[in-house]
Amino acid sequence: MPKPTIAVIGGGVAGLAAAVTLAQANAHVTVIETNHQLGGRARGIEYQGLMLDNGQHILLGAYRETLRLLQLTQAPLHETLQRMPLALKVFDLKLQAYFQLNAPAWLPAPLHILAGLISAQGLTLHDKWCALRLMVWMKLHDFTLADDETLAIFLTRRHQTQALIQSLWEPLCLAALNTPLQQASAQIFLNVLRDSFNQQAHDADILLARTDLTSLISTPWADYVAHQGGCIRASTTVKSIRQTTDGYVLITHEKESLFSHVIIAVGPHQLKHLTKTLPLLSQPFEGFSYQPITTVYMQYEASIRLSAPMLGMVNSTSQWVFDRGQICGQTGLLAVVISAHADLNIDQTLLAETIHTELTQLIPQLKQPIWHKVVTEKRATFSCDGKLVRPQNQTEYSNLYLAGDYTAGDYPATIEGAVRSGIAAANLILQRS
Ligand SMILES: Cc1cc2nc3c(=O)[nH]c(=O)nc-3n(C[C@H](O)[C@H](O)[C@H](O)COP(=O)(O)OP(=O)(O)OC[C@H]3O[C@@H](n4cnc5c(N)ncnc54)[C@H](O)[C@@H]3O)c2cc1C
Repeated sequence: MPKPTIAVIGGGVAGLAAAVTLAQANAHVTVIETNHQLGGRARGIEYQGLMLDNGQHILLGAYRETLRLLQLTQAPLHETLQRMPLALKVFDLKLQAYFQLNAPAWLPAPLHILAGLISAQGLTLHDKWCALRLMVWMKLHDFTLADDETLAIFLTRRHQTQALIQSLWEPLCLAALNTPLQQASAQIFLNVLRDSFNQQAHDADILLARTDLTSLISTPWADYVAHQGGCIRASTTVKSIRQTTDGYVLITHEKESLFSHVIIAVGPHQLKHLTKTLPLLSQPFEGFSYQPITTVYMQYEASIRLSAPMLGMVNSTSQWVFDRGQICGQTGLLAVVISAHADLNIDQTLLAETIHTELTQLIPQLKQPIWHKVVTEKRATFSCDGKLVRPQNQTEYSNLYLAGDYTAGDYPATIEGAVRSGIAAANLILQRS
């Protein structure tokens, strides 16, 4: 049998994870990416001489496949990622009070979470009792629901108090699923809790990149693919795909190329146009809707520091604030993340002013920022709604597969979801050739 020639359309995290997996098995792989820069929704951007990201990302200790690929393709992980045991500190702007949970890393999972809840600050005894009951319930039910429902309904049915929902569950849901509680799939949320809280204590660790995301992920992964003999074609848009008896012809502005196998690793909203000539692929994407994420970078004097690398905020526009000085040496630079927001409907300067006013409640001596930069990704992730039917990697077409954070799987739209999907698509090809 001739060696397959494989095209991966899309050089985001999913496409690159597929390409690394194929290249590691010495398969002949070509990645085609429309932008000049790889990385898709997880990429670095340059501003004011600094490398920022299109959005501040968090990785978890439970991101096993992502961490495995990072380890395969680059320097030791401790050089590129800052790993912190789970420590949540969430400031309520209305009550002017902190909720704080530290999961002791020396205890085995899930005891570290239970101990963290028992010793949490900012919760009443009743709150703690309700949270512990829920943790035990989830453990006894193997983090599995008989029927999925929204997280809002699930938490109410499981007797979670308003304080718990507001300080703990809602910030975690927004960070993990980027979907409002009233819409979010309780089962997908439980999947993330299962993988982070239930196996090994360090699965709950929070990992923050010491570099921008391009340097962390796409550059080393693309270099690895090229080093293994693969090909990366950036600034090349696949306009359409034609099925032939020998495989698939990919039509770009410069040429037509034949491949025996294709992995389509573009975002779900980018599929419709690309797959016009593949009618069997057109339906599964109708049900998708999207959620935005805005990151507001605020550059203050170099001496400005938060009390932790990452803080939550509630009863505010800001949801999470990251101290990039502590994370990656960009002193005085704070990155404020606002997930799953409605249309912010104000101009960027007003938004930055609102954020600045909120930040002064965390750091009273804060003077006006030197500069700010607002980055909004309107389609940051799909809405992780329980009723959503996500397509499989396998399609109705032979030797044509889908990869991306949106394909069927345990995870919401995350780096780990995208990586797992890319690896799964690559393995389908490797197993059959
Ligand atoms: C602001 C923001 C914050 C986030 N925060 C987190 C976080 O904290 N933790 C986390 O785990 N995840 C986070 N995510 C989600 C994570 O970034 C995504 O789930 C992941 O990057 C999706 O990767 P993907 O490869 O599936 O899709 P994409 O990144 O969308 O990749 C698709 C690629 O296909 C290319 N393409 C499209 N059409 C064509 C074509 N016709 N020809 C060639 N190429 C094409 C696109 O240019 C793109 O590069 C965040 C996302 C955003 C936007």
